[in-house]
Order: sequence, then structure tokens, then C-alpha cells
Amino acid sequence: MSTSIPKIVVLGAGYAGLTTAKRLTKQLTAEQAEIVLVNKHNYHYETTWLHEVAAGTINPNQARVMISDVVSPNRVRLVYDSVVKINKDEKRVVLENSEIEYDYLVVALGFESNDFGIKGMAEHAFAIEDIDSSRLISEHIEYQFAKYNNEENVSEESLNILVGGAGFTGIEFVGELAQKVPELCKKYDIDRSKVRIINVEAAPSILPMFDKELVDYAKKSLEDRGVELKIGAAISEATSEGFVVGDDKELIKAGTIVWTGGVKASSVLGESGFELVKGKVNVNSDLRPEGVEDMFVIGDCSWVWNKEADRPYPSTAQLAMQEADVVAANLKSLITNQPVEEFVFSDKGTVASLGHSDGIGNVMSGYKLSGKSAAAMKKVVDNRSLFLLGGAKLVLKKGKFRPF
Ligand code: FAD
Ligand code: NAD
Repeated sequence: MSTSIPKIVVLGAGYAGLTTAKRLTKQLTAEQAEIVLVNKHNYHYETTWLHEVAAGTINPNQARVMISDVVSPNRVRLVYDSVVKINKDEKRVVLENSEIEYDYLVVALGFESNDFGIKGMAEHAFAIEDIDSSRLISEHIEYQFAKYNNEENVSEESLNILVGGAGFTGIEFVGELAQKVPELCKKYDIDRSKVRIINVEAAPSILPMFDKELVDYAKKSLEDRGVELKIGAAISEATSEGFVVGDDKELIKAGTIVWTGGVKASSVLGESGFELVKGKVNVNSDLRPEGVEDMFVIGDCSWVWNKEADRPYPSTAQLAMQEADVVAANLKSLITNQPVEEFVFSDKGTVASLGHSDGIGNVMSGYKLSGKSAAAMKKVVDNRSLFLLGGAKLVLKKGKFRPF
């Protein structure tokens, strides 16, 4: 140990990192451990609300929580800087503006958009990654509407919004757009029929994790509100005009193109020489990589095996927060020479929103929801995540209470 009091450094203040830091403040006294939390910004954001920020259906500030409102700067040293590299052998983290040593490290740097190297995607498509990138999308869309009746030679396609990938993020985003576009049409005196919302998906179905009944419900809800779903059509290229789609290489044109075709773990992992499985760090059931005593990797950076299902757990906020609870307990165990515990996931179900007042979900071991009940459940889930981070005070400040 570098000092008499062990130093725990947590990287990332998303669901995984911020929850870990918060739980550590309850588990360990200042005499038992120094806690340092490193994050790019001085705020945490609710990643699970970013599709709403991107569509402009919520104010970005609602999805932002000041980190110092959740963990006391008197107990946790807050470092607002970007992690560049982790040097495991020297137990040191290189930041953009400084370096930091650790005795114990928690890596929780989350995800980045993954364009799988598709030609032109990085240059031409927006991605929903954080507050800034999401706000940029909603502002770009509104700008297309604002200029439509105000500039000459504006193309008809400039109002189109093209979304690549109909997994959770793509579908939740077009659900929000179906709600937002009529508002923008009214605001800028544009006929709704002039605007196309097109979601392109390579797989034979949207949302493959839901059964046919719920998928059919979601498709109908979206199509009834003017979303065009182009299924079984892979995007092979993005250009300044739109996406090149399907075997016949059709160019679908749009003024706004957004890629929601997948995510990968933070690129810091690869740059730090970690051994990776599908871009993530494979961890044991105590959430440490094999043979590593002083480091936990959690949230979207970790590859955690679900023994029952014989496959890895999908990366979710729910998983990240539960992992954080176990990591905080295990850090306490390591510091107090107790045995560490195994992570066991408790699945609370899955809900996908289809705009503000519609959705589909599977909760309580297979109970199916659709419509307003699913939308209500989604708001309960969103408020619960705030509650777990910052208690009732945070729910009252940032929670979702808007009636349908
Ligand atoms: P993140 O939430 O990505 O947090 C990472 C943190 O690290 C951020 O604060 C970031 O700023 C910081 N960071 C990143 N890189 C650096 C760096 N180099 N230096 C310093 N700081 C850095 N899951 C669900 O369970 N339910 C949902 O309804 C749901 N909805 C979603 C909706 C959308 C639009 C998206 C994109 C995802 C959704 N997910 C949902 C998935 C869920 O958001 C992720 O699994 C979850 O955010 C992972 O948490 P995390 O803490 O690992 O990472
Ligand atoms: P994803 O990988 O789940 O979905 C991406 C979709 O894009 C897939 O359906 C894929 O077939 C499609 N795709 C990939 N390449 C394509 C191409 N070339 N052309 C057309 N389509 C293509 O990614 P996501 O939706 O961003 O979700 C990321 C993670 O976040 C997942 O683990 C998910 O469970 C989680 N998430 C959960 C929720 C929720 O629980 N409500 C919401 C959003 C995200």
C-alpha cells in the first residue's frame, strides 16, 4: 500500500461508478479508506434518458445530476478529468491533466457508440453517447425545421430523420421522435406529411428480446404514429446525404442521420492493454479479472457470465447498479480482511418506452406489459434509479411526474 490508509480510485461516475462511490461512503469511514472519484464532467447523467434528450422531449438539465449532490466532496475527493490510460503494473491512472495512484481501482468508464467500421458512419451520423452528443441531435433536428420555411433551396429530405439500428436505443428514440415531430411541425408551420421518421434494422425483427406479441404491439404503435420501419435491411455506408441500405444499395436521404446500431466498452480498456472479450474485460463472479487482486471492472466495461443462461449478462443500468453494491461490499471486505462475495444478478425486468405515454415490457418473471401501464412502469424505473443514487430529494428534484 502506498499510504497507511488505502486509496480507492473509482473511474467514471455513471450508474456503476457513482453508485460504488456512494455505497463506499456508507461502508467505510475516512480512517479506513480514502475514496477518489474521477469523471469527465462535474455531473452524472442518466444515460437511460439520453434518447429523450436527443429527441428534445426532455430538457438536458433534467438528465444531469451534479456529482457533489450525490456524494459529499468532504468524504470523496472529486477529480473532474478524462482518463487516458490505466497502468496496472504501476497502479497508476493517467488523466488528461494529471496522474493518480491507487491501492484499489474500480473501472466503470461505460460505453461508446460502435459503428463496426461502417464507411462514413463516424463522419456523417450522430450518435447518442452522452449529454453533449444527445443535445446536439435535438438541436440539429430543430434547426432543420427552423430553416425549412426560411431559406431557399432547402431540400424536401432535409426534414427526414433517419435512424440506423432498431435495438432498444433506436426504438426508444424513434418513439420519442413520433411524439416530438408533431410539436415541431406545429411550431414551424410545417405539414406533418413532409417529415419522414425512418428506422432501418438489419435483423429480421425489431427488439428481438421481446416476444412476437409485444414486438407486434410496438411496431403498430410506432407505425400508427408515422414511423417507417425498414426491417431486414443492413446499412452498408453513411454519406452526407443519408444511409446506403440493403442489397440493392438504396440511398435513403435525410437531413438528420443518427446511428443507434450498437455500443462497445470504453476504448480506454484497449488502450491500457487489457485482455478483452468482445471489447470488454472478462471478470470472475467477484467482479475482478482473473488473477487480479486490486481491481474491479463493472458496468458496460465488464463481461459478466450468467451461469444459468450460459451467456453474458446484457449491459444495462440495472446490472451496473447491482454490481456497484457488490463491489463496495467487496472493497470493504478486502480492507477488513474478510472474504469477498459473489455477484448474483436479480432481474427486475425490462421495459422499452415508445414515447412518453406508450411502451412494452416484461416484469416480475414474465409478466407482460404494454401501453400506458408499460409507460408508467418505465417512469417508476427511472425514478427508482434516481432514488437509489440520491434518495427522495433527488427524485423530487429530477424525477419524472408528467401526467400522460
Ligand atoms: P455510463 O452510464 O456510460 O457511465 C460512464 C461514466 O464514465 C460517465 O459519467 C462518463 O462521462 C464517464 N467517462 C467515460 N469515459 C471517461 C473517461 N475517459 N474519463 C473520465 N470519465 C469518463 N439500461 C437499462 O437498464 N434500462 C434502460 O431503460 C436503459 N435505457 C438506455 C437508453 C439509452 C439511450 C442508452 C444509450 C442506454 C440505455 N441503457 C438502459 C443501458 C445503460 O444506460 C447502460 O448499461 C449504463 O449506462 C451503464 O452504466 P455505466 O456506469 O457502466 O456507464
Ligand atoms: P443493440 O446492440 O442492442 O442494438 C443495435 C441494433 O442495431 C441491433 O438490432 C442490430 O441488429 C442493429 N444493427 C447493427 N448493425 C446494423 C446495420 N449495419 N444496419 C442496420 N442495423 C444494424 O444496441 P442499443 O440499442 O444501443 O443498446 C445498447 C445496450 O443498452 C444494450 O445492452 C441494451 O440492452 C441497453 N439498452 C437498454 C434499454 C432498456 O432497457 N430500455 C434501452 C436502451 C439501451
